[in-house]
Amino acid sequence: METKSRSLSLEGFTFDESWEEKRKRAEKIVEILMETHPREKLLIGDPYRTLIHCIISQRMRDEVTYKVWEELFKRYKDIETIANTPVEEMREFLRKSGVGLWKTKGEWIVKASRIILEKYGGKVPDDIHELMKLPGIGRKCANIVLAYGFGRQAIPVDTHVNRISKRLGLAPPRVAPEKVEEYLSQLIPYEKWIYVNHAMVDHGRKICNPIRPKCDQCPLRELCPYAKGLVTDEDIKGKKAQR
Ligand code: SF4
Repeated sequence: METKSRSLSLEGFTFDESWEEKRKRAEKIVEILMETHPREKLLIGDPYRTLIHCIISQRMRDEVTYKVWEELFKRYKDIETIANTPVEEMREFLRKSGVGLWKTKGEWIVKASRIILEKYGGKVPDDIHELMKLPGIGRKCANIVLAYGFGRQAIPVDTHVNRISKRLGLAPPRVAPEKVEEYLSQLIPYEKWIYVNHAMVDHGRKICNPIRPKCDQCPLRELCPYAKGLVTDEDIKGKKAQR
């Protein structure tokens, strides 16, 4: 991900805090998250497989995604095989495997593979802008490929990172995920970017759940404006919260 040079505004936050205070708090938050949710193996380490995983995963549960992804690579060994597979066949494989949006994803998987072979010599590009030109790859997936495939410092903002960053007051409650990425990249030291996604995803699954977060069990509660009532789900979603 490219580094943003300009500063972001403090407007839109629901509580007062200087940029410097926010930065210090963000650093502590990431340290605690890394201690609470350590993950020995950070990388899948294969950009192409990471990219295909990300296409399958869109609007899918993790367990199902993983199974389908494993099965896909058992059946179609490598990028050449996938690129040479008719789109209809790939769609049928996804449909039978219970993948939502199977028509679109089948086309994305085959077409992205063909483009990587033809335009990039079979190597997934390690540039966010080139990645985002591939079918099915938005900013979140591009950052996932950079972080988990290439091991680069990047902050993919998925639903967990978006929600938790806003509850923690590291991004204003109403901004788009792209903006959340900008705030996080300004607040969190560069060498820790790669940990943010996996730590927040684990935190979101175990503690900071979408509905009724377990604030009383959370190691971040002293640092969290949501736990102090300074940010609410209503602020984030714009509707009455279920807490
Ligand atoms: S204190 Fe509550 S809202 Fe804040 S991060 Fe922890 S679980 Fe989420």
